Amino acid sequence: MEKCKYWFLLSGKKYRFNSILDLLKFKPLTPIDRIRFGFMVLYGKYRGSRKEISVKDWVEKVGGKRIYHRIINPLVVSYFGSSKNISSLYLTSRWRSESSVINKLGYINLYYFLKKIEKILVKRNVVIYTNKEIVKIVRKNNKYILFSSDNSIFKVDYLISTIPPPVLNNIFHNDVLKSHLNNICYRSCISLIINTYEKSSEYYWIINLERKYNLITVFEYSNLCKNIDGGLIYGVKYVDKNSKLYNSSNSTLKKIFLKEIYNLMENMEYNKIIDFRIIKIHYATPIYFTNYKNPPIKTKLKNLYLAGVYRKFPQIRSMGPALESGYEAACLVTKKLEKNTL
Ligand SMILES: Cc1cc2nc3c(=O)[nH]c(=O)nc-3n(C[C@H](O)[C@H](O)[C@H](O)COP(=O)(O)OP(=O)(O)OC[C@H]3O[C@@H](n4cnc5c(N)ncnc54)[C@H](O)[C@@H]3O)c2cc1C
Repeated sequence: MEKCKYWFLLSGKKYRFNSILDLLKFKPLTPIDRIRFGFMVLYGKYRGSRKEISVKDWVEKVGGKRIYHRIINPLVVSYFGSSKNISSLYLTSRWRSESSVINKLGYINLYYFLKKIEKILVKRNVVIYTNKEIVKIVRKNNKYILFSSDNSIFKVDYLISTIPPPVLNNIFHNDVLKSHLNNICYRSCISLIINTYEKSSEYYWIINLERKYNLITVFEYSNLCKNIDGGLIYGVKYVDKNSKLYNSSNSTLKKIFLKEIYNLMENMEYNKIIDFRIIKIHYATPIYFTNYKNPPIKTKLKNLYLAGVYRKFPQIRSMGPALESGYEAACLVTKKLEKNTL
């Protein structure tokens, strides 16, 4: 675990944002608004909000219009496209869960972690298939039949789907399922990863509130993970999947993002780059509208269960709640299997 360093980029300047002292020195807000901001976060953290109240209404009421326009609206818009109908409960839950880790963040060795889980499962005679894109699901005689793009077919008694709801709806046509999943919309994102010979910035996490950039946030991971050789930059832009940017070629995106990275990272130069990757994620985040409803873990279709972070609102969209939802579904199935064998 390392000390986390958040910075806001606003009006061409970077502002440290890690403590109450930083907030009190935060020039983009007036002294009065800095105090109101602190009060708003504390109030949201301890009192929460209601799902039906929008970010705009809640922030304007508790923090004031200036705070909404200067800080919160640009932040929420950069994630969800708009802040008008986004639930304020997401914001207050995020403050609650993130405040406990604000100064301590760490990264697991995911490859090692997954390999470890794989080993345990294989020991229990679990068969794991990877790289199987499921293109159709049919329910027949109380079984689920899954068809994959490489023409494999899987027949199962129990199904836990972790596929994003819009995809599941497309490949499994069923009105009952539709009624559980229909209202969930997603936003896409474009991520970039740049591996460099040297560290490119002293800032770990820059949250970019300037609209002239596409990248809403950039990280220099070598400030967090001391075992990284050289530097590792990560940046992201959330977009609509139909937008021109999302549909641009990787070489166009590379040009656009590199230009921004040169401006955002103070020590970045072209000849420092070892590798540059663009990754597009179609279903990057559910959009938490004020009428958002978590689908059930156990659907009305016999032996069909749902898991995924989209079921865990208002918990923040991170790996923890996603894993938790999978664990919950797996426990329900195991319980049922045990009951059936008694
Ligand atoms: C840019 C970005 C940065 C993030 N950073 C962090 C972070 O630092 N820390 C953190 O904790 N969380 C982070 N998150 C959040 C975290 O990644 C998610 O909360 C988590 O991955 C959600 O898990 P999930 O299983 O619900 O969905 P997903 O991870 O989206 O899993 C859904 C899976 O379904 C698969 N799938 C889709 N269609 C099909 C199909 N037809 N057939 C078979 N499979 C299919 C997809 O390939 C995917 O693997 C980040 C998310 C994004 C987008």
